[in-house]
Amino acid sequence: MIHSIETLLLDVPTIRPHKLSVATMNTQTLVLVHVRCADGIEGWGEATTIGGLAYGDESPESVKVNIDTHIAPLLVDTDARNVAAAMSRLRRTIRGNRFAKCAIETALLDAQAKRLGVPLSELLGGRLRDHLPVAWTLASGDTARDIAEAERMLEQRRHRVFKLKIGLRPVAEDVAHVLAIKRALGDAASVRVDVNQAWSELDAMAGIAALQDGGVELIEQPVRAENSAALKRLSDSFTVPVMADEALHGPDDALAIASGAGADVFAVKIAQSGGLRPAAEVAAIARLAGIGLYGGTMLEGPVGTAASAHLFATFDELAFGTELFGPLLLTEEILAKPLEYRDFTLKVPDGPGLGIELDLEKIAALRRR
Ligand SMILES: [Mg+2]
Repeated sequence: MIHSIETLLLDVPTIRPHKLSVATMNTQTLVLVHVRCADGIEGWGEATTIGGLAYGDESPESVKVNIDTHIAPLLVDTDARNVAAAMSRLRRTIRGNRFAKCAIETALLDAQAKRLGVPLSELLGGRLRDHLPVAWTLASGDTARDIAEAERMLEQRRHRVFKLKIGLRPVAEDVAHVLAIKRALGDAASVRVDVNQAWSELDAMAGIAALQDGGVELIEQPVRAENSAALKRLSDSFTVPVMADEALHGPDDALAIASGAGADVFAVKIAQSGGLRPAAEVAAIARLAGIGLYGGTMLEGPVGTAASAHLFATFDELAFGTELFGPLLLTEEILAKPLEYRDFTLKVPDGPGLGIELDLEKIAALRRR
């Protein structure tokens, strides 16, 4: 039986300002879900999002209210061992709330995998790899600072794929910023951009042409999520791959985009998809449609990052790697033993469940009262 479901908000400062076209983050609010079962087994999930309501329609506070008020009462005292039935009831009864659903599903699967004594990846079809390539986001907004940061990452063998957040400044300025970084790093690194929907289609036509010429390797969500026709035209117009991110809110969007050949790559995110199982469905649709995969992040802390890693480890193809660097952006460690980043990859934890141990004292200290 599920004994209790608790939602915690943790405010953690970031190591530097993280500038997106929609918001500048100085603090990340982690939303953790803690499920306790009657057999003594506990599970953890995470529903962290980016930039409050500037990015999506769930905020840390709304996730907490909706779990505490509507989701927990639906699940408490039901069978903890049947995660599929619990999630089916939840999805039938409550609309939207994809991040909240993802956190609940993660916590229930973590508990069930611990119960069975297997890593979470084994409940998701089984892992095909133990290490995932991890990109780093350069988002200080300052060209020289970004180059120095990238060079440091290359030297430490932590990242060799860099994603630049652009879209705040005029297109020509952003393009100059990106190409200066690409020139400085040369062939040692892959440089990609994420426009976070900031461009008009005309801006995108000009911007992508220049970025493609300069050797940029991936263009993420250049136009508004709702404008799927423009995203398709851009995918058709350029050889540099165009990736759907904000346009992808789970399997229904994935099917709609894939059936119209509206993107070259999908950024799969467990929270945006509404959970681990729906995210696996997004990946399956991509595979069948010949669309490339990229393992995305909502800048979750270690819980959501580990959950994502377990799922991404099961993908047959992961041509564009992942961006599971969320924990590295935080000034505080909430695990007893941090996730392992080395040789440009993240190690997928191999213990039972998520394979992580939370530092409960640290969590208590960071918790919002
Ligand atoms: Mg993105």
